[in-house]
Amino acid sequence: MRQKNGFSLLELLIVVAILSAILISVTNILDVGAITGNPLAEPTDWELATCRFNQNVVQNATEYFGIIHGRYPLNMSELYPWYLDRIPRCPVWDIPYIYNEFHLVYCPHHGR
Ligand SMILES: [Zn+2]
Repeated sequence: MRQKNGFSLLELLIVVAILSAILISVTNILDVGAITGNPLAEPTDWELATCRFNQNVVQNATEYFGIIHGRYPLNMSELYPWYLDRIPRCPVWDIPYIYNEFHLVYCPHHGR
């Protein structure tokens, strides 16, 4: 009888199938969108973090504009292209940020 070394192809396939099943079930549990049925209902941490980061980039640009000009910009378009190479938008909803009368930048969907 031939000496068996390592795993057979069938054994490897079974292991891969089990690991895939575990991985799929775990990602479904972690994905809030899969539970609510609407992937946009609950942004993931990454989406929320990106939105907050974008807001901070625009907010910092308004502060820098204020240092240079002695006043805040009247609107976000004044920041382009000298203070921002583009005006970022919310990564989840692709909507522009709001720059209010108190010179605060925020996302209409996620807030600040
Ligand atoms: Zn947002």
